[in-house]
Amino acid sequence: MYSFSNITTLHADLKAGKVTCATLVEQAIAAIAEKKHLNAFLEVFEASAKESAKRTDEKIKYGTAGKLAGVIIGLKDNICYKGHKVSASSKILEGFESLYSATVVERLLAEDAIIIGRTNCDEFAMGSSNENSAFGNVLNPINEKCVPGGSSGGAAVAVAAGICHVSLGSDTGGSIRQPASFTGTVGFKPTYGRVSRYGLIAYASSFDQIGPITKTVDDAAIILEVIGGLDKNDNTSSSQKVEEYSKTLLQDKKYKIAYLKECVEAEGLDPEVKVAVLKQMEWLKGQGHSVEAVSFPYLEYLVPTYYVLTTAEASSNLSRFDGIHYGYRSKNATDLESTYKKSRSEGFGKEVKRRIMLGTFVLSAGYYDAYYSKGQKVRRIIHEKTNAILKDFDFILTPSTPGTAFEFGKNSADPIKMYLEDIFTVQANIAGIPAISVPCGNHSNGLPIGLQLMAGYFEESKLLNLASKIAK
Ligand code: GLN
Repeated sequence: MYSFSNITTLHADLKAGKVTCATLVEQAIAAIAEKKHLNAFLEVFEASAKESAKRTDEKIKYGTAGKLAGVIIGLKDNICYKGHKVSASSKILEGFESLYSATVVERLLAEDAIIIGRTNCDEFAMGSSNENSAFGNVLNPINEKCVPGGSSGGAAVAVAAGICHVSLGSDTGGSIRQPASFTGTVGFKPTYGRVSRYGLIAYASSFDQIGPITKTVDDAAIILEVIGGLDKNDNTSSSQKVEEYSKTLLQDKKYKIAYLKECVEAEGLDPEVKVAVLKQMEWLKGQGHSVEAVSFPYLEYLVPTYYVLTTAEASSNLSRFDGIHYGYRSKNATDLESTYKKSRSEGFGKEVKRRIMLGTFVLSAGYYDAYYSKGQKVRRIIHEKTNAILKDFDFILTPSTPGTAFEFGKNSADPIKMYLEDIFTVQANIAGIPAISVPCGNHSNGLPIGLQLMAGYFEESKLLNLASKIAK
């Protein structure tokens, strides 16, 4: 079995003939079968992966292979790949096949990456534990009694369990960073607009962003170089130059880091997570960086603002799943109205229905001003305060999550408790800034702890630079 450590080493090994793409694909397929009980993959794209491997092995021979040659990648099941099924882990998309590829997929394939399959996730990316998938729970390989986090749970497990080299996930409020933190991997959400969302099944369009889950920060940097950049199919994608992120990782700069007092003092914060984060701050100071406390008085407004606005956007985005255009149609429908009603009632899971109803409510005529419009105003305030901090500091540091991975069922009965899992991660999506979760030691329960760094708009170079130092 080839033991993957990072993309650069893999490339040296491919070049030296120590391994071939064909072997890597065989091994990934075997690993998926062997670790089937983890339920990380919903489908293996065996034929197309083998085909890519064959083509890339030829290119390697002739020295024409791309930047991601032989990198085995898992796609979260909400990213479209032409001619392949995609379901957002929902029954409502049963049997649906993508008619086109997401821009990120086109870009990965253009650099000879090998897409091995689609990974399980919370239905329509709504959740923090992967318990909302229509296709069953994903187990955390570090402790199988625990959740892997969500919504990109399968994506994180695929990397943590050594099944694939890299995964792509999507992050609306923490769905890349929280599962990365729960599985000891690196989870990176770029600036809103850095990566095209074309071909990503939308949850909340003004928050969603695609990003990588990797073993190392260096790999995250290489992936961003490939998937980032302007796309004429996504008007919210930015024309800001895509830098050579992987080259800037070696720079040795001293930074000004702010940590949010309210986060470190938060009531629900696990004491061992707190100690791990404080220790990391001491280490950073020892390295010559300055670390200072700042106050962020809006911590308690983050989660409510996120849930008012994202459910509003979701209720609109998910209206297209009507039993006619895509996937599932109820067999019990008798007319147009009952086709809509029954297909949606039977096709969507409980959490998705809860959010569609909540979102429809906050947008409804009598409540729009009290909820949606107010939510937008609070978003602006959070955004301004966050940017004000980032004017004075290079980074904002927080724990990635209040605790480590929890046991199945622990938060299921209480949605508010589950929503509070996102308290530290949603700020970056509300403000649109880049953020990364990197491993930062282990808890005495044996599970990994994650540290989060946030930076200003399009400062992914700086962010990856410091993150790579921490994740060593
Ligand atoms: N856990 C958050 C939620 O349930 C975040 C989801 C995400 O980022 N897609 O909405």
